[in-house]
Amino acid sequence: MTRPRVLVIGCGFGGIEAVRALSKAEVEITLVDRTNHHLFQPLLYQVATAGLSAPAVSAPIRHVLRPQMKRGNLTILKAEVRAIDVAGRLATLDGGEQVAWDHLIVAAGATHSYFGHDEWARHAPGLKTLADAFDIRARVIGAFEHAERAQATATRDAWMTFVVIGAGPTGVEMAGTMSEIAQHTLSNEFRRIDSTRTRVILLEGSDRVLGAFVPALSEKAREQLVRLGVEVRTGSKVTGIDAEGVTYETGSGAAATAQRLGCRTVI
Ligand SMILES: Cc1cc2nc3c(=O)[nH]c(=O)nc-3n(C[C@H](O)[C@H](O)[C@H](O)COP(=O)(O)OP(=O)(O)OC[C@H]3O[C@@H](n4cnc5c(N)ncnc54)[C@H](O)[C@@H]3O)c2cc1C
Repeated sequence: MTRPRVLVIGCGFGGIEAVRALSKAEVEITLVDRTNHHLFQPLLYQVATAGLSAPAVSAPIRHVLRPQMKRGNLTILKAEVRAIDVAGRLATLDGGEQVAWDHLIVAAGATHSYFGHDEWARHAPGLKTLADAFDIRARVIGAFEHAERAQATATRDAWMTFVVIGAGPTGVEMAGTMSEIAQHTLSNEFRRIDSTRTRVILLEGSDRVLGAFVPALSEKAREQLVRLGVEVRTGSKVTGIDAEGVTYETGSGAAATAQRLGCRTVI
């Protein structure tokens, strides 16, 4: 008798748990991921802000699942799944190869959303992959280098203004860490600019940070951010992002007022 074939898509927390749980069962497992590493996303913001290096938050998937590989019923493929034929029980990979399955586990994760404004992606990258973290790190460190070179005050100020949009856990972590970098890590690194004068502005559409938490914790988080030097602006809905800055709205209805922040780095 042939063993049932299980196809697992994704080697994040979900996919790894599925493989571990099934590896002792009488099944043939194929794990497919477009990368060959497991990524610990909760600490990705540290890579984006140069606090940690990539190997600290990622590990080769063949290494992570070595015990399961030894059992002889796991195959790992680095490939992107392009299509799933549910009726035919086939997945098509980026090279056109097909993987047949009896049971399918889709653990492909989530992606960020620009809420209908995909054109903002160019100016304000999301943070889900190592590539995203490297991109943000280059922008953040690069902004200080540009500021040091800038000759006009307005240009220097724009490079030293960082806007983080969204005060969920990731936005709060990013804003706090960026302020710490500016206030402490880089404080003696430059000559023309004073990095402690950097502005980190956290914009949030709702009336408090960390909206999924109880109000008392939101307030504690806001206080800590302010102590770290972050300007927290709640009730601020972003309406535009371009290469020169961010436009947002405060108030609502007839009382709505458009605001503009000149900045070169938006997260
Ligand atoms: C910056 C950040 C901070 C976070 N902080 C926390 C925290 O503090 N606490 C907490 O509990 N959670 C946190 N989270 C959320 C948590 O990390 C995620 O919920 C979790 O990683 C999701 O796991 P997953 O297995 O569902 O997906 P993922 O870890 O996203 O894995 C999905 C995998 O699928 C692969 N994949 C996707 N599509 C395809 C395809 N078509 N073909 C092949 N492979 C594909 C991807 O390459 C990826 O490896 C954070 C997330 C982020 C981004």
